[in-house]
Amino acid sequence: MEANRAMYQDLESILYTKEQLAEAVKKLGETITRDYQGKKPLMVCILKGASVFFCDLIREIDLPLEIDFMVVSSYGASTKSSGEVKMVKDLDRSILGRDVIVVEDIVDSGMTLSFLKRTLLNRGAASLRIATLLDKPARRRVELEVDYSCFDIPDAFVVGYGLDYNETYRNLPDIGVLAPRIYGGEE
Ligand code: 5GP
Repeated sequence: MEANRAMYQDLESILYTKEQLAEAVKKLGETITRDYQGKKPLMVCILKGASVFFCDLIREIDLPLEIDFMVVSSYGASTKSSGEVKMVKDLDRSILGRDVIVVEDIVDSGMTLSFLKRTLLNRGAASLRIATLLDKPARRRVELEVDYSCFDIPDAFVVGYGLDYNETYRNLPDIGVLAPRIYGGEE
């Protein structure tokens, strides 16, 4: 924790500790294990934000599974979504007939996942579900069904546990609200 001390000073508050995160991820892993009995899901990690959550989650799922990675970009160095989604890195393999679980860090406007859902279903996935660590339902701009979500959070910009601001804070073990002074917002 010592090495992260400077980063903690940039937080307004801590929303979830690493213990709370571990407990929620474990529970979600158990639920997915139950729901996908007899299947071999393809878990798709949306880089980079979901990376930490993804690595913890797959190890809490007691099933044979495969993993793949996608990079999409929608934010740049801002704290507000541009509404535009761009695919930067696609999946390595076909998903035809596969039971796909897309793993995301946070659903905000819903634009990213609704784009991904459309794209992946068009490729012939047998099923597609969304698992997110965090959800900001108040900010939704498009209709989107989120199948698995660990926490609903208020409309605040959060960092840590994979989530960044301008590529920093991803290695914080906890999730916290970034102080608006860091990104030039109002306190
Ligand atoms: P959406 O397309 O749902 O508006 O945005 C989803 C993406 O926006 C997330 O994958 C994440 O990269 C980014 N995002 C949305 N809210 C936050 C937030 O509070 N903190 C961080 N670090 N990223 C966010």
